[in-house]
Formats: sequence, C-alpha cells, structure tokens
Amino acid sequence: MPTVTPDDWSRLPKLTAPDIHEAIERPVVSVTTAPSAFEGEGFPVRRAFAGMNLRDLDPFVHMDQMGEVDYAPGEPKGTPWHPHRGFETVTYMIDGTFAHQDSNGGGGLITNGDTQWMTAGGGILHIETPPEELVVSGGLFHGIQLWVNLPAKEKMTPPAYQGIEAGQMVVVSSVDGGSLVRIIAGEVAGHRGPGSTHTPMALMHASVSPGALLELAWNPSFNGLAYVLAGSGLVGSERRPVQMGQLVAFGPGDWMRVEGVDRQDPRSVNLEVLVLGGQPIREPVEHYGPFVMNTRDEIMQALDDFQAGRLGTIPANALMPHVPDPNPVRAEHTGI
Ligand code: MN
Repeated sequence: MPTVTPDDWSRLPKLTAPDIHEAIERPVVSVTTAPSAFEGEGFPVRRAFAGMNLRDLDPFVHMDQMGEVDYAPGEPKGTPWHPHRGFETVTYMIDGTFAHQDSNGGGGLITNGDTQWMTAGGGILHIETPPEELVVSGGLFHGIQLWVNLPAKEKMTPPAYQGIEAGQMVVVSSVDGGSLVRIIAGEVAGHRGPGSTHTPMALMHASVSPGALLELAWNPSFNGLAYVLAGSGLVGSERRPVQMGQLVAFGPGDWMRVEGVDRQDPRSVNLEVLVLGGQPIREPVEHYGPFVMNTRDEIMQALDDFQAGRLGTIPANALMPHVPDPNPVRAEHTGI
C-alpha cells in the first residue's frame, strides 16, 4: 500500500483515547454492501453508498471505490471530459496514478496517497485518466472518489482546486500504536488535516493492525461513516463483522469503535478503513448525473448551461485519454 505508511508507528503523535466511561459510544446503525459497477470508460468501482438514504450521508452524496484492480498492459481506463456543478469531487489515490486537468486551469498527477479536492461550484469540465505510461504498463490501481455537497448559498461559487500531497496528510497513531490514522481533512482529537472544506467535516484513512482496537473520538455534531477499503474488522460494542466493500453507518455519540480481526486475509496486512463524517447541510438534494443541486429547475438550468458551453470549455492543450495501439494481429484481419 504505497500511500503514506511509516514503518514505525510508535514515534508518531498520538491520538488521545476517548473517556469511555463518560463519553457515549456511537452505535452501529447499519452495514451495507457496495455493489460492483463500471465508471467512465469502463473502470471497475464499488458504489460505496448504495442502499443508504441521502439524509444519513449528508453532507456527502456519492462515493466510489476505484479498484482495487491489477491491470494488464493496455487496460487502465479513466473518464473522458465531462462537466460538474453544485458540489466537490475528492479523489484520494492509494495505489496507482491518475492525471487530471480541468477547464479552470487546475490539474496534475495524483498518486500514492495524494488527494485532489476539486470544487466544481458553478461549473467546471474535467478529465480523470491514467497517464500514457501506466496505460502501456498496466499496474495496481486503487482509490476513492467522494462527492461532497455544497450548501445552496455556495453551489455557484467559482470553481477551485486543492492538490493535497501525500506528505501533507497529518499522520497520527492510536495510543497503543496499533492503528495509523492519516487525516486528509478535518480534525480528530486536536489533530487537523490539510484539506479546506466549505462546511465542517472530517475525512481520514485508518489502518488497524490485526487484533488492534481503534477508539476514535468523533465530533458529536457530525454523522459517522466508515467504509472498509480492505481487510476484515469488527465494529461497535457488539463487534459486528465487516469486510472489504462494506459501509458502516454509526448513530449519534462521541466516539466509534473499529477493531481489526486477528487473522487478516493474505491480500491485506491490516484492516483499511476510510472514516468520514460532517455536519449535515439539511437542504433538499436533486442529483442528476454529474450535477447536484437543490431543485429540479436548477438541474434543468445546469443541463442548458452545459449545452450552451457555460460550464467551461476544453482547453487548447487538453489532456486526452491514451488509446493503446491496436493489436497488430487483429490489424492483419482488417486488410481486404
Ligand atoms: Mn468527474
């Protein structure tokens, strides 16, 4: 797992454990399983939020786990140029590389622990694609794309781009050193990640050693979600079993309990969990394709504006998906 993973967790700053006698533990409300699907030009994803009510996800709207997939040469795929309005896309790459370019001048490579936090706001066009050399070589590919809603008053804000490099994440360990927590945005037990957000929220990636127990203090005004990226674990005081591709929704309280099982599947050394939550925006959500607005009229307006080119234009030096050379054997058969 090439995202930031120090060898020695004992020297990292420590989270303070919640006072488990005073503070209220968040109960497990639901465990849902993400179905597999294909996104963009046909790359495999798990729809992490499938089966959940939007009210319980607020301020988040959608999340895809991209991979984990080990591509053969020529197989890596991304998305073509497409629009967004009314929210933010947050892409966290654990393994592999995505190249990004947008109509607002933002872009770059996101790789091995980097996060790209893109505010579509009033409108943006962008492309997310593996770079040419990775298309040619193939390779391991694993990441997350999370859609973060914007409140009505900020839906039409100018587009913006934050490139959060892997080394900027705030990396801390649990008191017992058994868990590693990489904070991308928001704050936990006094440690604050680098991401700038429009509404209060927190996003972090935790690795929990086999048999270790992570007692994670969590802002009581936030919802609490944990998505299992890899491995197997036990959640809540009832130690409910969870595994790769499952989302846990916690109820209200001050902290949540995530435990790694003693024996992990050989594919993952640790339990890997994306932990996220925020202060709900509590506004109506109309989600249609790449647009997330408050009303149906605003969706119609977004479609009109996109057709009229008002969400942005593809730049002159545009990055385009790399199409590998056609198979020469097949090419022989195209001759007359
Ligand atoms: Mn997109």
